[in-house]
Amino acid sequence: MKKTIKQPAFSPRKCIACWKCVDACPRNAISKVGILWHRHAKISYSECIGCNICVRTCPRGCFSD
Ligand code: SF4
Ligand code: SF4
Repeated sequence: MKKTIKQPAFSPRKCIACWKCVDACPRNAISKVGILWHRHAKISYSECIGCNICVRTCPRGCFSD
């Protein structure tokens, strides 16, 4: 049977740019974008392996599985 991975949904709306997810992602799939107070995380789905560490790490619930 073919294995599929379930990647988390991401919403930057509540992101406070704490970068905990950037540090926690084992694939470096999350990057920092924006300028000054408009900064937020961004997920690259081509790198994401669906481990859901970011879902558990984000204090603002920006990732959901
Ligand atoms: S699910 Fe895992 S690999 Fe994908 S962005 Fe989150 S921490 Fe990174
Ligand atoms: S952990 Fe959550 S609040 Fe912090 S930078 Fe990542 S998405 Fe934003």
